[in-house]
Amino acid sequence: MATDIFDTRESQVRSYCMNWPAVFERAEGPYQWSEDGTKYLDFFSGAGALNYGHNHPELRELIVEYVANAGVTHSMDMKTPAKRRFLEVFEKLILEPRNLDYKVMFPGPTGTNTVEAALKLARKVTGRQHILSFTNAFHGMTLGSLSVTGNSMKRRGAGIPLTNSSKIPYDDYFGGDVPDFIWLEKVLEDAGSGVDKPAAVIVETVQGEGGLNAARMEWLKELSNLLKRHKILLIVDDVQAGCGRTGTFFSFEEAGIYPDIVCVSKSISGYGLAMALTLFKPELDVWEPGEHNGTFRGNNLAFVTAARALELFWSDDSFQKELAGKIEALHTGMEKITGHVKGSYVKGRGFLAGISFPAPDTAGKVAAEAYKRNMLVETSGPQDEVIKLMPPLNIPDEDLQKGLQILEEAVLAATGQMGEPSRLRAPH
Ligand code: PMP
Repeated sequence: MATDIFDTRESQVRSYCMNWPAVFERAEGPYQWSEDGTKYLDFFSGAGALNYGHNHPELRELIVEYVANAGVTHSMDMKTPAKRRFLEVFEKLILEPRNLDYKVMFPGPTGTNTVEAALKLARKVTGRQHILSFTNAFHGMTLGSLSVTGNSMKRRGAGIPLTNSSKIPYDDYFGGDVPDFIWLEKVLEDAGSGVDKPAAVIVETVQGEGGLNAARMEWLKELSNLLKRHKILLIVDDVQAGCGRTGTFFSFEEAGIYPDIVCVSKSISGYGLAMALTLFKPELDVWEPGEHNGTFRGNNLAFVTAARALELFWSDDSFQKELAGKIEALHTGMEKITGHVKGSYVKGRGFLAGISFPAPDTAGKVAAEAYKRNMLVETSGPQDEVIKLMPPLNIPDEDLQKGLQILEEAVLAATGQMGEPSRLRAPH
């Protein structure tokens, strides 16, 4: 069997390939093909790293051209034309139109790298150690990021105490029964509370791994105002919700807030290449040269594709407007599907959304049934109780509808309302 070496040699730490055993060979837009020629509809999008689909043809051409011309690939943090162009385009198309004045730091190339940089910077700027984060948060797997993550299984993996952070309730944690921030406001004002004044609060506007909980805009605004009053930094982790996933480039735009630090990764390269940014207000730029560094901060292939992706999709508001229509179609489709299962409901925001089922094992069964029908969807939440839909933002309407139809069948099958699929083999 072709997969043997994966099973015999690769560590059992793997997870996605345990549920999706196909060997994926080729990919284009919202589709992937396995070695045996089966065509899969991808509503997983590399957990948000492929917001513009697989192998966007124009970005692929640029990579081929850059490599053919022996452009510098690895450059630590040295200057290259590719990096210059990315910074210029990012300033012009993303920062300036949104009135955001951020210094750009390239940490290591992953989501957890930008979170670690953000936490370290917040501590250095304020001289305080404590960080507050939210129930069901997910910020990455290195120790600093784990310390602000909620999931108990992931936290246990650290193997040591995760210190210098505490959890506070995310929006709606008490089902609306308790006024927002009542505890936080009180303990910050009470010198006897025993809660050390934190350096920062880190928040996801939509909890991508923690169950697709979406914070309300007024909640985010109130959080931002409260922290400003207490001179505590606000870090928005936009690793998963950013780069258009919720309908705007940054997920916090609609809230009208100006976070002190923003973590960006996953889809910033536009092509699934490793790249991350830590953005912060200029007055927070207190780093000593080299105080935080890393070998892979200059991924020039990613700079090349990132700059062009911003031009292709964010030069004006046409992509965003088209996306709004697709978001509406996705949510309408999901609402319809909830009609099949009593107690199920739609969660999330934009194209970072899904359906929560009352029985915790339903979402896993739905994902398995979807896979039988050649579609990739994952689950989210502390008990994996939510099926999570993350199609590419530029998915053609007919593929979006096809995905919704497969999902509907998968939900019916998973809940005993429909039989086995007749698995169709798509052409090469
Ligand atoms: N922050 C958030 C909000 C994430 O969703 C993730 C990844 N799922 C990370 C950080 C960590 O990113 P990475 O896996 O690239 O380290």
